[in-house]
Amino acid sequence: MKVVLATNNKHKVKEIREILGAKLGETLTLEQAGVTADPEENGATFTENALIKAREICRLTSLPALSDDSGLCVDALGGAPGVYSARYSGGDGEDNIALLLKNLRKAAEGGVFDRTAHFSCAVALVFPGGRELTAEGSTYGYITEEKLGSGGFGYDPVFFSTELGKTFAQASEREKNSVSHRGRALRALEEKL
Ligand code: IMP
Repeated sequence: MKVVLATNNKHKVKEIREILGAKLGETLTLEQAGVTADPEENGATFTENALIKAREICRLTSLPALSDDSGLCVDALGGAPGVYSARYSGGDGEDNIALLLKNLRKAAEGGVFDRTAHFSCAVALVFPGGRELTAEGSTYGYITEEKLGSGGFGYDPVFFSTELGKTFAQASEREKNSVSHRGRALRALEEKL
């Protein structure tokens, strides 16, 4: 089977190939498939957004397409940034972290000290002909008061994984993959394949 991965994010491509490579066979990045489409992810849930992307890439390439959508949900902020994680501040990853820490300081000023959070990920595999498979995974922890560690990407430096006992940015790739939301969603998808 030849599958197009609906991403150019190197971290994601590597993780997907490590977990599902054997089941999927040959995998192509968007670049390798010669596709530049970037459909608007305007779904209300991670699963809706993953399906939007996979359906579009499948339509454009006439090949099975695998996509994921993920984000950080912080309890004291009503689940924000959630599906808006990538564009929370309107700036880059550093700005997103700064805004998150600022909003949690504000919450604490208002008497809410809860810093619990989870990452969630939905994956969708869409086949030409209309067959669609989806799966979800989550991982739990809390938001640290300052950045710790230098690995990973996005919110990793401020996400302290309860299971690992360190932030995702302090964890090795193997450690992170073993408990990550994306790893769990991909393994749940593998079960369905
Ligand atoms: P998307 O899934 O590519 O739409 O982006 C989700 C956004 O959520 C990313 O840009 C990151 O800000 C954040 N995110 C998702 N997964 C992770 C992760 O494993 N570590 C850190 N941040 C993540």
